[in-house]
Amino acid sequence: MAREKHEEKKAGVKEKKKPKKTGKREKSEKKHKSNRWKLYVVSGEKAGKKNKSCPKCGFGVFLAQHKDRISCGTCGYTESEIKKV
Ligand SMILES: [Zn+2]
Repeated sequence: MAREKHEEKKAGVKEKKKPKKTGKREKSEKKHKSNRWKLYVVSGEKAGKKNKSCPKCGFGVFLAQHKDRISCGTCGYTESEIKKV
């Protein structure tokens, strides 16, 4: 007469894992974007009295003189300068 005690040990012992506190600091590198947009006035070359006023913008806005053409920096009006002989 042998009693066989079949004890089923439930090995379901859940061990609580402690969250390891890692000393990792999140490096928040914020790149400071400096939006420097300079308001530069397109004055062009100093042409003295040869500056023409823009027909679109009106009087006061002068056209920047380039090699063979003049352009307005405000509205973008370009005009080919024809040299009259
Ligand atoms: Zn203009």
